[in-house]
Amino acid sequence: MFREKKTDTGLVYYSDLLNGIEHYFTTRESNVEDNFDGWCKYLGIDDTSFIHPTQTHTPNIQTAVIGVSDYPDTDSLILNNHNQAIYLRFADCTPVIIYDKKANIGAIAHAGWRGTVEGIVPKTVNKMRELTNSDINDYYIAIGPAIGQCCYQVGEEVITAVKKSVKDESNLITPDNRIDLKGVNARQLTEIGIPEENIDICPFCTSCRSDLFYSYRKENGTDKRHNAIIKLKRATA
Ligand SMILES: [Zn+2]
Repeated sequence: MFREKKTDTGLVYYSDLLNGIEHYFTTRESNVEDNFDGWCKYLGIDDTSFIHPTQTHTPNIQTAVIGVSDYPDTDSLILNNHNQAIYLRFADCTPVIIYDKKANIGAIAHAGWRGTVEGIVPKTVNKMRELTNSDINDYYIAIGPAIGQCCYQVGEEVITAVKKSVKDESNLITPDNRIDLKGVNARQLTEIGIPEENIDICPFCTSCRSDLFYSYRKENGTDKRHNAIIKLKRATA
């Protein structure tokens, strides 16, 4: 279940399913770019270690490397060290936080429709599994605030691509071509074997709740973004 929390940086949301990883979905009042220094302080890291990739709606996935802050054309970033924290930027696209509880590694994926139909989220899980011996049941997923099926009507090109990206498209597309993008990502994950009970889906639509979040569609291409953030906890014996 998604819960809200008032932090030093403002209102954030998190999933109680991902209790092993420090993670936040920010809001209009807590977005990283308006309070970068505040976030570094809150996370307890220096400003060169709070990094984000340059998102360009690709299916490209990288793993964060200590000392490296530049990740061009990258829409999913894996974190497997304790020294860095990562964030990605969103306004309607689906933010997906992935956590491997056994190996204690995480990732954030940016799944707009392009990334979603390319399967960027299940591909990230597969790439994480190459780094660990974890079972698919060790994966926990928080699908954050994104544009909802209520507000996301798309063209035929997108409908066709979405249909191809899942085996079972039931309930994901309405007769008037509205897509449940959060649901498509969740379906792709259950189709690779992640248990449904390991997936938490944020109920908020960013367009309906543009009081809380930024909406590219509703706000005519706003350049403001809310975020998904992760930082690994140190393993405790
Ligand atoms: Zn809506």
